[in-house]
Order: sequence, then structure tokens, then C-alpha cells
Amino acid sequence: MPTVLIIGASRGIGLELARQYCDEDWTVHATVRDPSADSLPATLRDRATLHSLEVTDRSHLNALAAALSENAFDVLIHNAGVFGKGMAREDVLAINAEAPIRTAEKLLPCVLQSDEKKLVLVTSQMGSRGGKTGSLGVYGDSKAALNDAFREREPVWREQGATSIVLHPGWVRTDMGGPNASVSVGDSASGIRKVIAALTPEQSGQFLTWQGREHPW
Ligand code: NDP
Repeated sequence: MPTVLIIGASRGIGLELARQYCDEDWTVHATVRDPSADSLPATLRDRATLHSLEVTDRSHLNALAAALSENAFDVLIHNAGVFGKGMAREDVLAINAEAPIRTAEKLLPCVLQSDEKKLVLVTSQMGSRGGKTGSLGVYGDSKAALNDAFREREPVWREQGATSIVLHPGWVRTDMGGPNASVSVGDSASGIRKVIAALTPEQSGQFLTWQGREHPW
């Protein structure tokens, strides 16, 4: 079965993706900030290989990349993110915009060693400028910055053989999305898995939704 690495799987969409891939008998690797935390669900502890990663910590990432260098990941999903309420703008940008690109670049060799070579960075529709100038709010700005950086790097990753997309997971009922969000975490994760399964090299560079539609930049 294929192998997936999910960055940021302690709760929400990342956790549900890990759970569903485990149910499909994929080999699941997942990162969380603290693998020893009591709050981590049994699903992760028992069925996935857990690694520790604070996504803004470069030395932490370097150590993880070195430890995983012999691994092949068919699918790498960078899911970790924050809405950033009450946080400094630079911290939100560091987590939502800079970390996904750095993580993707560091772990790309593991993806390129695999059969499927798929790289998915979780963005948001709130990072879609849709012709708007000016600020989209801190969160929107951070996801727009991620999208911009992705569009700059993707041709290089494609040249190396990877199929990469940025993906909007829907407005999802998680800690971040809140109880009034329109999509359940189960539906979002199964939609995301379907999009990834159907992903072709020709789609590399696209901004897709969890339902597989192209999203405007
Ligand atoms: P949650 O708030 O439920 O979970 C966020 C996850 O990111 C947690 O696992 C958290 O770990 C991890 N994380 C946050 N900061 C860091 C960090 N510095 N280092 C390592 N891990 C970190 O969010 P969702 O599941 O809702 O969101 C997942 C992704 O989807 C995010 O990128 C988000 O921006 C995006 N998204 C979500 C939408 C929604 O409606 N929910 C809509 C559009 C996009 P920890 O438990 O340690 O904090």
C-alpha cells in the first residue's frame, strides 16, 4: 500500500486524514508537536508512525528530514496552520506561508523516492485575492503568501518529477472552522483523499478545492 506523511495531525483535518488513511491500510506517518501528549487519540498512537515537529523550528525540520531520508512518501500533505487570532502577524506568516514551503523542499527527496510523488499544501479560499488589492486580513494574507510562494516553486518541483497542488479543504467543523462550518471533518478528509487519488501530473500547479474543483487565485 502507498505511504503518506501528514504534517500537523494532532487534531482537526490532519487527524481525520490520518485516521482515514489508516482505515484504508496505507502506511501512515504523521507529525505532531508533542508525540507524548496525553491528548493524542489512540488512532494516531496505535496505527501511525509519529514524529515530532514544530513547523517553524528549522533545526527540528532538518533533524526530521535526516531521520526520514531513507523513506519514500507517495503523498506528503502539509496541513498544519493557525487562524492566528491574537498572534503577531509575523508568527502567522511563519506558520502558514513560510513553513509549508520549507517543509516541502526539505522533504521533497522522500516524495521523489516514491511511486506517486504527490505534494499537497493546505491553503484556504481566504487566501484567494480574486482581483482584490489590499489586505485580506492576517490569515488571508498568510495563505495568499503561501499561494504566491507555491506558484513560484512549483515549476521547479514539477521539473524534479513531483505533482504538487495547493488545496482548500472547505469550511470545516474543527477547532479552527468552528461549530457552524458547513463541512464535517469526515467529508472534508474523504474529499481531500479522493482529490489526491485522482491527481494527475497535468494538474500540478493548480489550486483545487476538497471537491476537486479549480479555485481562482
Ligand atoms: P485545527 O486548528 O483544528 O488544527 C490545526 C493543526 O495544525 C493542529 O494539528 C496543530 O497542532 C497544527 N499546528 C498549528 N501550528 C503548528 C506549528 N507551529 N507546528 C506544528 N503544528 C502546528 O485546524 P484545521 O484542522 O481546521 O485546519 C487544518 C488546515 O486547514 C490549516 O492549514 C487551515 O489553515 C486550513 N483550513 C481550514 C479551514 C477550516 O474551515 N477548518 C478552512 C480553510 C483552510 P497543535 O494541536 O499542536 O496545535
